[in-house]
Amino acid sequence: MEFPITVVGSANVDMIMQVERFPAPGETVSDGQFSQAFGGKGANQAVAAARAGGRVAFLGCVGADAFGEAILENLRRDGIFTEPVVKSVSEPTGIAMILINKQGENCIAAAPGANNALTSAHIESYAAFLKRSRMVVIQAEIPRIAVEKTFEVLADSETAILFNFAPIRKEAPKLSPRITYLVVNETEAAYLSGVQVGTFREAEQAARILRRQGPQNVLLTLGANGVWVETPQGGFHAPALPVQAIDTTAAGDVFCGAFATATTQGQPIHEAVHFACAAAALCVTRLGAQPSIPYREEVETLLK
Ligand code: ATP
Repeated sequence: MEFPITVVGSANVDMIMQVERFPAPGETVSDGQFSQAFGGKGANQAVAAARAGGRVAFLGCVGADAFGEAILENLRRDGIFTEPVVKSVSEPTGIAMILINKQGENCIAAAPGANNALTSAHIESYAAFLKRSRMVVIQAEIPRIAVEKTFEVLADSETAILFNFAPIRKEAPKLSPRITYLVVNETEAAYLSGVQVGTFREAEQAARILRRQGPQNVLLTLGANGVWVETPQGGFHAPALPVQAIDTTAAGDVFCGAFATATTQGQPIHEAVHFACAAAALCVTRLGAQPSIPYREEVETLLK
């Protein structure tokens, strides 16, 4: 079976506890309300692409434990093909422990675990599979060596690459000219280009600098101000859709996933960006990460 989109990236389980107040060192607070959610940029983007109507495969690394199995089941619920996921016998599944206090502030400790065990050998063993995809979507929450290996195995293929440089890593992967779409937010763009992005003019300037570093197109997301897009034909601004934002968690991931689906289904870049902005706009009107990822029909309704 062919999968037009393969997402290479991270997958985590979020252990969330709402508490009256954060415990001090050595203290126990016993009034917590517990919930579990699925996250990780790679998994979020795969779910976003699938819900936008794409056929998606996921390549990542989880632990050989119950959390790893739960992640796979969760991805499969959205119709995502999980065979390329490797199970690490030495590292546990990636976990984020999130405390949220009464004021809504959070305190997070994350253990990437198996996400850091994704090797270039594993990427290499899926080289033929990756080359059969129309687009490979990848982020920076896995080892840099795995990201660079993905660029390398796709060097002589027609497969488009969407690289979302998030989160910021001290050692950024080299921005290969094989990157078809580089997606960054203002902070990531500033980190890579040296231009602080506060205005559209600065967004354009940063995106141009980044394009000169290799990527064919740069999509600089600007939160409620939309996206600045720099292409070989020139730049343009795509506005965000006006919505009442309540939680922007995963907005960038939804943008990437929906854009990948729209592009691989043949939409030209202007339309694909507009579609992705609509999907991300719906996401910010809802609480949480994966529960807030919209389905295609909802995006189409918003666009009517
Ligand atoms: P996050 O880290 O919160 O997942 P991000 O910083 O990677 O997000 P943003 O630039 O904040 O990415 O948002 C991505 C896209 O989501 C924006 O380009 C825009 O289309 C949409 N978006 C974000 N915030 C809003 C908002 N308040 N209203 C409408 N659309 C929004």
